[in-house]
Formats: sequence, C-alpha cells, structure tokens
Amino acid sequence: MKKLRTLEGVPLTGKRVLLRVDFNAAVDDDGRVLPGADHRLRTTLPTIETLQRSGARVIMLSHLGRPGGTVVPHLRLKGIIERCAQLVGLPIRALPDVVSPAVEEAVRAMKDGDMVALENLRFHHGEEANDQGFARSLAAYGDLLVHDAFGVAHRAHASVATLPRLVPAFAGQQLALEVRVLGGILDHPARPAVAIVGGAKLETKLGLIKNLLPRVDALLTGGGVANSCLQAAGRNVGSSLADRGSGTALADLLQEYGDALHLPTDVRVLRAGHGQTPLVLPVAAVTAADTIGDIGPETVVRYCRVLRGARTCVWNGPLGKFELQGFGDGTTAVAQCIRGAETFAVVGGGDSVRALEEGNLLGAFDHVSTGGGAMLAFLEGAPMPGLEALYEKA
Ligand code: ADP
Ligand code: MG
Repeated sequence: MKKLRTLEGVPLTGKRVLLRVDFNAAVDDDGRVLPGADHRLRTTLPTIETLQRSGARVIMLSHLGRPGGTVVPHLRLKGIIERCAQLVGLPIRALPDVVSPAVEEAVRAMKDGDMVALENLRFHHGEEANDQGFARSLAAYGDLLVHDAFGVAHRAHASVATLPRLVPAFAGQQLALEVRVLGGILDHPARPAVAIVGGAKLETKLGLIKNLLPRVDALLTGGGVANSCLQAAGRNVGSSLADRGSGTALADLLQEYGDALHLPTDVRVLRAGHGQTPLVLPVAAVTAADTIGDIGPETVVRYCRVLRGARTCVWNGPLGKFELQGFGDGTTAVAQCIRGAETFAVVGGGDSVRALEEGNLLGAFDHVSTGGGAMLAFLEGAPMPGLEALYEKA
C-alpha cells in the first residue's frame, strides 16, 4: 500500500514551511467569512498549530473562488486570514501579493514561529495553468511544503501538482486523514458496506458508481441519478431531471449489479396543473405530467432497512431537490437512519453537506470530507495530481 510522507520526525524549527491550505470558504462582498462557513479553516488548525509550536516560519498558500488569473478585490484573502488568526489565537500577516519583491522581503524578515499568508494564488494566471515558472517562484519562498488542501488534490494546478516536486513535500494532518478514511472505504471497508449516491447530474457520478459497485454490498440511489437509472430500467420519469445519454451504460450496470443497485419504488412529484404541493406516487404511476423531486416514504423505509445492518456507509449527493419546500424529507430521513445505525459513516459534496447542515444532521457522520470534487475523484479512482508527490518512494 502506498504511504503518505508525514511530518513525523521532520525537523521544523527555523524552517520556512510553505503550507498549502484550502481556505476556499464562502465570503461576503467584503471578503469576510460567512457565519458558519469556516469548517475548512478549522480542519487545518491542527497542522497550523503543529508547525507554529515547532518554531517553523509558516507561509500559507490558498486559493479563493475563481478570479481567473487576475486580481478581484472581493476575493482577497485578508478577511479569511483574519478569521483564521482568530481561530488560531495568534497573528497571521496577510501579504498583498502572490509573488513580488514585497513578499520576498516579508518572508526574509520572518522569525521562528511567525506566520504569513500569500495573496489568493488564483490572482496569478500561473496557478491554474500549472505554470512551472510560477511554481518555482513559490518554491523559492520555502524550505519544504506541507500540503493540507485535500479539496484541490485532484487539480493539476501549480501549487498542488508541481510545487511538491520542487521542495521536500509532506502531507498535512487533514489531508492524511481524508486519504486514510476514503482509502479505507475503497480498500477494506467494514462489511456490509453501503454507498448512497444522489445529486443532480448523472454524468458527474457515473465514475463513482462504477468504481463503488464492485466494492460495496448495496448502492442506494436518489436525485437525478435515480431518475436516470429508473429511465434506463424502462420507467416513465416524465419531465424529471435525467440523463438521457447514459441509458446503455446504466442498463448494463443494472443487469450486472441488479440486486445491489437500489432504485426508488415511490417518489414525490410535482404534477403539471396541480400546484406546488408534492404528490407521493409509486414509480409505476409516474406520468408525463410529473417531475420527480424526491424519493418517497416507502423507499426511505427500504433504504433504512439496508442501512440498519451496515458497518460502513459513504454518501454523496442529496436524494431530492432539498432547496424546494417539500423535497428535503428523503435526505433528512435517511440521515436520521444513519444517526441511529451503528455504521461508520462518511459524507462529502458541497450540496450534500449543506443539505445535512440545514437539517442539523452532520453530527450523524464520523467523517465529513473537505473535498467535493476531490472526494469524487478519489473514490472514482481518478488520478490525484496533488497526492502523487506526497507518497513515500517504494
Ligand atoms: P454534491 O454537491 O453534494 O456533490 P450535487 O451537486 O451532485 O451534490 O447535487 C446537488 C443538487 O442536486 C441539488 O441542487 C439538488 O437540488 C439536486 N437534486 C437532487 N435531486 C434532484 C431531483 N430529483 N431533480 C432535480 N434536482 C435534484
Ligand atoms: Mg454540488
């Protein structure tokens, strides 16, 4: 098994440590972190504290939003760094540029235990373009790199994929935790293992479904993913969100994994001409006038029966259009089952986490991943450019 290089036994006192973090939090128009949106900042605190206490000179690197290689004032990191400093309880100096003589000077002036943060990496076009020269400029600021930004580990960006090849690079504690938990789900899940896959677009989840089906005992579907499967199974899904192009691939999976691939047997729909109150219908009764918005109560009972016996459970994608009134029940009820079950439970995905947070149900999970796209990529078995250079050489 591949093993990540960690900081254990690495001398840190006096070292200039580049710390790649994922401070990509929701901010207001002044760049201040929205209330309750600092989850990602908090997950990096153990690594920040380890480095600072060891007398390292900590140089934080993060992106925020999609400024597209130019300076966008409301995406400056200042407000986020202030929040981070508050959480750490120590000053962190937010520098005005990504790379510049002023940054160089500020880094040169650092003392042991000092902390600074470069400006939003994506203000520089070289970050997303994975520009080698840009990566070299970043590398010049540090003696080593600690990567704790699992949320971008699937990206081939300069600070993620190239920087760790230019300076000795180590996994931060949150990144190592993500890889341990998600790697465990792929390699040796406690059985029975159950996956729950929902969300909007099937094409973003097909790789995940294909990689998980051979490894789990059951895969429960919801959302647009379930609609697409129902359609591939020959059901009428009316005008529901469904991927019409993946029918053959899904029909093959249904054939091969029929018993393990669970589809809803009843649904909540909006029916054209019947107002905004959802109707509950057996799947067989869905008509062309219906739009499926959630799984139905009978399906919830069936899914909960599967979850009650599970020892591992991994979830990505809300089971319904939870943003609309009357379509959040499926997601909430299944999360309540997980809370009551003795299963090791993992969840990830921006909308999934938001849906569960709204229902105050995140506490039902043993691990809430900081990666949306990164968790999907990892569980799909896709290349992870940000992890490659962090593994110990065999
Ligand atoms: P995540 O961000 O957790 O990976 P996705 O982005 O894949 O999740 O999907 C979230 C979106 O899926 C939500 O906006 C939700 O409204 C939508 N969704 C879920 N079920 C349905 C449905 N039946 N019809 C249309 N949209 C749905
Ligand atoms: Mg999403």
